[in-house]
Amino acid sequence: MRTLILANGEEVQVKCLSCAITGGLVEPEGGVICETEYFHAHQDVAYPIPGLVILASKRHITCLDELTEKERLDYITTMSRIRAAQREELGIEHVYYFYNEDTTHHFHIWMVPRYDWMKDFGRSVESLRPAMLHARHELNTDENRKIVHNGIAALSKALNMTK
Ligand SMILES: [Zn+2]
Repeated sequence: MRTLILANGEEVQVKCLSCAITGGLVEPEGGVICETEYFHAHQDVAYPIPGLVILASKRHITCLDELTEKERLDYITTMSRIRAAQREELGIEHVYYFYNEDTTHHFHIWMVPRYDWMKDFGRSVESLRPAMLHARHELNTDENRKIVHNGIAALSKALNMTK
């Protein structure tokens, strides 16, 4: 169990943060980017990287082979739509995808846009964690947070226009 403090100051105990977010108990900062029958997308603004998206299943599962056929179709379709919106709205050329099954939450994938500054941390998977931490500790400025929030708004607008 972990204790969360809601926006209204109320404390709640949740077993799984992903369940709390996808179930609407916890409103992610910046809001929901898009939502389908089986999936839910938001940004973790603790990592202020414009266009970063976390796509989570609504069902409490952890492994890829636990997805039903309908969920699989919804997953790849939704992820592709988000990817297209990242390109069209934010000019994101490449994305890194990170998903680990041994999560303390439940099934979710990080879609991390690749920016030029990340090259200082390496060229492939080894650069992901240091780049994320750099964003968290060095890029957490008012100006950058504003860019992140504008990115969320642009993605959310694009994804909720054509359903
Ligand atoms: Zn869960």
